[in-house]
Amino acid sequence: MREQQLEKAVNALRNSKYTIAFTGAGISVESGIPPFRGENGIWAKYDSQVLDLDYFHENPKESWSVIREIFYDYFGVAQPNDAHKVLGRMEQQGLLKCVITQNIDNLHQAGGSSVVYEFHGNSQRMVCTQCGHYFPSQDVNFQKLPVTCPKCSGLVKPDFTFFGESIPTEAYAGSLEAARNSEVCLIIGSLGEVMPAAMVPWEAKRNGATIIEINPKPSNFTGPLTDIHLVGKASEVLLALEQRL
Ligand SMILES: [Zn+2]
Repeated sequence: MREQQLEKAVNALRNSKYTIAFTGAGISVESGIPPFRGENGIWAKYDSQVLDLDYFHENPKESWSVIREIFYDYFGVAQPNDAHKVLGRMEQQGLLKCVITQNIDNLHQAGGSSVVYEFHGNSQRMVCTQCGHYFPSQDVNFQKLPVTCPKCSGLVKPDFTFFGESIPTEAYAGSLEAARNSEVCLIIGSLGEVMPAAMVPWEAKRNGATIIEINPKPSNFTGPLTDIHLVGKASEVLLALEQRL
């Protein structure tokens, strides 16, 4: 059963001229990053209001101290796992056009992917709320909070999507265009609970793509959308696919 599913997926990938990968929190779990949702998720431990745009502006110091703990003390040390690395190698071999990710952890780029649409932004990039200046998080002195802009001293926020903020325009448009062009869409580690990101695989399917899902358990995609469900951890399944490609 499992071997048959793998062979079906390999055939689809071999015949596809345009494969995309749509990834969610599940792909980074093996790098030690817990998901935001669910009983062991980050929001079970922290109050998510620090990522509410209005709350952040009203309470920048308090918000930043929680943000620092979650995203920079914690995520800052995470390394890409085999799942990220297989996707990086597939891109280099011409087997993958792009990654569309809901994650903000920068691990796809660290794992070797160069075309990455960041649906929810990237925690490793900072943006000034006053002058729009961008700079890398490694240039930030996290001892001094809130983080302020080196150019204008305005309040700085991490360049990922807060509650109450819209999806970055370029990533949104680029993702949907890639989905429309795709012949195969890999769904990896996403349960399809977060809109509008979850639209991406639906858009791919609507345009005729074969949907290959890699998730340890069924998701919102599994019944109505998925053509081939490869059950298992992202790294294990992707390594098995790579071996057969
Ligand atoms: Zn500034």
